[in-house]
Amino acid sequence: MTPTYLWAPPPVRSLPVRGRTERLPVNRLFFVGRNYHAHAVEMGRPVDKSVEVPFYFTKSPDTLVESGATVPYPPQTSNYHHEMELVLVVGRAGFRVPQAEAGALVHGYACGLDMTRRDLQLVARDKGRPWDLGKDIEHGSVVSEVVPMPGKIIDRGALELRVNGQVRQQPDIDKLIWSIPELIADLSTFYHLQPGDLIFTGTPEGVGPVVAGDRLEGSVEGVGRIALEIGPAA
Ligand code: MN
Repeated sequence: MTPTYLWAPPPVRSLPVRGRTERLPVNRLFFVGRNYHAHAVEMGRPVDKSVEVPFYFTKSPDTLVESGATVPYPPQTSNYHHEMELVLVVGRAGFRVPQAEAGALVHGYACGLDMTRRDLQLVARDKGRPWDLGKDIEHGSVVSEVVPMPGKIIDRGALELRVNGQVRQQPDIDKLIWSIPELIADLSTFYHLQPGDLIFTGTPEGVGPVVAGDRLEGSVEGVGRIALEIGPAA
């Protein structure tokens, strides 16, 4: 029997796919913490890969927004930050995946913005509290169209973010501390990865505040572009 519901269930969250009319249904949103040395240093928490492991946080899929949107400046912050990131799109299920087999899970890539209430994130961090209020923000996970590249491991390429035409972030993906295969192998020891899971691979240095009226434009060499406009507080 087809179930009925008390109210309309939430819509399927999805993204456009380059070259396809079908959209990609999004499952979970995973985010890698400090994954570029210079960003770890600017956050006051350098990474020593010889003794540390990657860490992650998640956001609700209903924070997802498509590139090109205008989003309201969020409540409860006066320090809303951009974090430009390469996003890995999982296309096949996997659990405890060896690094050498990680490519089999790759459907493709996208550009992403991990928008952050930095003031709330740092309070939570310093008090030992969860990061949710700093990170899990309505309209706070911005993603471009998905570019299918089955099996491809991206390990280099220029990443750039401009705010109102001025460059704010401009590293190369070869600066990732934990590579795409290392992330898939490690994250899949905690989760049974599923098609439609998105993994934001971490932001490089140069994060900073945005205000209403700002126009963000980002790119990842070989992947594509992303745009976002910050509107007034809603
Ligand atoms: Mn991030």
